[in-house]
Amino acid sequence: MPDWKDKIRCSFCHKKSTDVEKIIAGPGVHICDQCVELCNAILEEERLASSTEPRLPMWESMTEEQILDHLPKIAAVQAQVDDNLRDWVGHLRGRDVSWERIGASLGMTRQSAWERFRSET
Ligand SMILES: [Zn+2]
Repeated sequence: MPDWKDKIRCSFCHKKSTDVEKIIAGPGVHICDQCVELCNAILEEERLASSTEPRLPMWESMTEEQILDHLPKIAAVQAQVDDNLRDWVGHLRGRDVSWERIGASLGMTRQSAWERFRSET
């Protein structure tokens, strides 16, 4: 098995894809079956309570410690998305797609795309 299964983690709970039953991919992010179930439970609960209160932004109800605890989770998802973007760009490079086209797709110059995604090795 290729090692991508070890690399892919749920963007919500950060569990490895090998530690959950299913993982569903979005653009640069992933969600596991357990998080989907949790989302469904929250939706069902809100449906039953017929709550129309918006839940975001939630900072007002959080302590500074809770907000600080949340920062590394966001940073981990950011790292995961960066990694994923790099993989996708790598596949295009493997097909000899030019830096010009990759840059254009991302709204950046050929030079910026090359600087950001060229392989270090
Ligand atoms: Zn999850």
